[in-house]
Amino acid sequence: MKLVLLGPPGAGKGTQAARLIKDAELMHLSTGDMLRQAVKDGTETGIKAKSYMDSGALVPDGVVIGIIEDRLKTDGPTASHLFDGFPRTVPQAEALEEMLARIGSNLDKVVYFDVPEDVVVERLSGRRTCRQCGANYHVKFVPPKVEGKCDNSGCDGELYQREDDRPESVINRLEAYIAQTSSLIDFYEKKGILCKIEAAKEPEAIYEDVKAALGM
Ligand code: AMP
Repeated sequence: MKLVLLGPPGAGKGTQAARLIKDAELMHLSTGDMLRQAVKDGTETGIKAKSYMDSGALVPDGVVIGIIEDRLKTDGPTASHLFDGFPRTVPQAEALEEMLARIGSNLDKVVYFDVPEDVVVERLSGRRTCRQCGANYHVKFVPPKVEGKCDNSGCDGELYQREDDRPESVINRLEAYIAQTSSLIDFYEKKGILCKIEAAKEPEAIYEDVKAALGM
């Protein structure tokens, strides 16, 4: 199975992905996570991507398409993938279609998380992330047990605000989503594989809708 999670930053794609990969035994391909790791490791890709990411702009298509292409080669044609945060532009969506066709595969479903802009801004600007394990918290909705520290057992990492969760970057990310990504809703609707989910709800309720949409 190959699925895409589509929606604005802060729609809860990462939270739902964490549940789905367990229950549907999918491999999680988050270009955001992969790029953050590349920045941390100081690779050539990371160096190219950092300034775009910090300002909330999209990283050039060629860079992200290359990352996904490498992963598809490594994982092989029969792997089940959950694409999270990719594709984000029409050229990326077309490239994904071609890459999958080359290995005799295709996308099964695209789950679109529909959420109003004010909800997204509140979620992103209150988000805190663990430096060690990448777990996400929210100052109001999901506070850690001890302020500034990750709850995960054995982690105890420091929580910080991602550079791109700061207000100016959040605005840029939303603008990038509207200008470059939202046309994918129509793109996948025309292909008949789009499932729309109302995502301004609690994560548990959203997950029930996701499972229903995927027939799980
Ligand atoms: P995310 O964690 O998915 O919100 O991604 C964080 C940042 O990584 C984005 O704001 C972009 O700068 C970059 N990024 C992640 N995925 C993509 C993509 N598919 N295309 C372009 N840039 C991306």
